[in-house]
Amino acid sequence: MRFSANIEKLEPSATIAVSTLAKRLAAEGRDILDLSAGEPDFDTPAFIADAAVDGIRGGMTRYTPPAGLPDLRQAIAARLSRRAGRELDPNGVVVTAGAKQALFNAIFAIFGPGDEVLIAAPYWTTYPDLVRIARAEPLPVFGGESNDFKITPADLDRAAGDHARGVVINTPCNPTGAVYGQAELSGIAAWARERGAWLISDEIYGNICYEGASAPGILQLPESELGPHVLVDGASKSYAMTGWRIGFSYTDPSVADKLTALQSQITSNAATPSQVAALRAFTDTEASDASLAEMGEAFRRRRDLVTARMRELLPDVPFIHPRGAFYLYFRVDGLFDASVKSGTAWCSRLLEEEGVALVPGAAFGDDRWVRMSFATSDDVLEEALARIAALIGAGSTA
Ligand code: PMP
Repeated sequence: MRFSANIEKLEPSATIAVSTLAKRLAAEGRDILDLSAGEPDFDTPAFIADAAVDGIRGGMTRYTPPAGLPDLRQAIAARLSRRAGRELDPNGVVVTAGAKQALFNAIFAIFGPGDEVLIAAPYWTTYPDLVRIARAEPLPVFGGESNDFKITPADLDRAAGDHARGVVINTPCNPTGAVYGQAELSGIAAWARERGAWLISDEIYGNICYEGASAPGILQLPESELGPHVLVDGASKSYAMTGWRIGFSYTDPSVADKLTALQSQITSNAATPSQVAALRAFTDTEASDASLAEMGEAFRRRRDLVTARMRELLPDVPFIHPRGAFYLYFRVDGLFDASVKSGTAWCSRLLEEEGVALVPGAAFGDDRWVRMSFATSDDVLEEALARIAALIGAGSTA
C-alpha cells in the first residue's frame, strides 16, 4: 500500500510493544501493575461533571464557533491574564479537542518543508511526529543531566542548524518532571526571539507543581521578551479531564485566526458539553482551587513516596527529582546485561518477570532511561517499587 508523503515518516509509537504485552498478560490473568499511563487516576471533580450534565439537559448540544464558546475563551483569557499580570486578548485563545490538537494546529500551521524545529529532549513522544506530519524536521536538543535535562541557549546553539524556525519546550516536563524557572524561560525566549523562531511552550502540567502553586510559564515573561509564541495548555491533567478532550492555545489574535481556520476544516469545535464543563472549571475558582489543592496534595505525597523508596531500595539508580507533573524518570543502563541492552528490553523483562509496566525512554528520545507514572495509589506504587527492586536483586545475583 502506498501512503502519502504526509505520513511516510510517521513512526509507530515506541510505547506500543510494552503496552501490547501488558494487555496480553493482563488478559491471560497475570497480576499487572500498569504505571505507563499518562493521566491522573482521579475522577473528574463532581462540580465540573455536573455542569456538563446540566448543559446537555439545557440544550448545549450543538456546534459552537470553531474557536470555542465566547464565554470560555473569555474565561481562559481572564485566567491567563491574572497569572501573566497583564491583559491578554480573548481573541488569542483557541479552544481545542485536547492539548494535542492545540499542538497539532500550531505545528501544522507554522512549520513546513525545509523548516527545522528544535525540540527540548527528552521530549513527549508526540512532538517529533507532529513536526514530521508537517513535513518539517524535528531536531532534538538535550539539556545536561545535571540540569534535570532542561535546555539552555548554549544547548540550542549547539543543536540548531541554519533553518531553525521553532523551539518546543514543555514545563513541567513529561517525562522528567523538570520545571523551568522564569530566568531559564527568559533565556530561551531571547534565543528564539533573536532568530525570529517560534517558541511553542506546552504547559499542560502547569498546575501540578511541587514548588509553588503553579510553574512559571512563558506568558509571565514581559511582553517585550517574547517573539512569536504559542502557549499550549488545557484541562486534561489539572482537572482529571483527559477523556473530555479540552485544550487551548494562546497566541497573537491574527495567528489564532489561522489556527481557527485550520481547526474549522478538521474538527470544527471541541465537544460542546466538554466546553461547558471546562467553563465551570475555569470560572468557579473556589471549587477548582479546592480540587487542584486536593489532587496536588495526593501527587506530592506520591512523589515523596516514590523518591524515598527509590533512594532506599535502588540507591544506585539515578533519577531526576520530579518538581512537577507525575512522572519519575530513571536511568537503567547501569542495569543492562548480555541480554538486556536497552530501556525497551529492560521494560519488557520487568513486565514479563515482575508484571510492572513502565514506558521505555525510546519514546522520549533516550533508551537508557525509563518513565514511571506515579498517578496511582500508594499501595500500587509500594508494590511496584518492591517488584522493581526484586528484579534488580535477581539480576545482580544471576
Ligand atoms: N502534552 C503533554 C506533555 C502530555 O503529556 C500530554 C498527554 N499525555 C498532552 C500534551 C496531551 O494532552 P491532551 O490529553 O489534553 O490532548
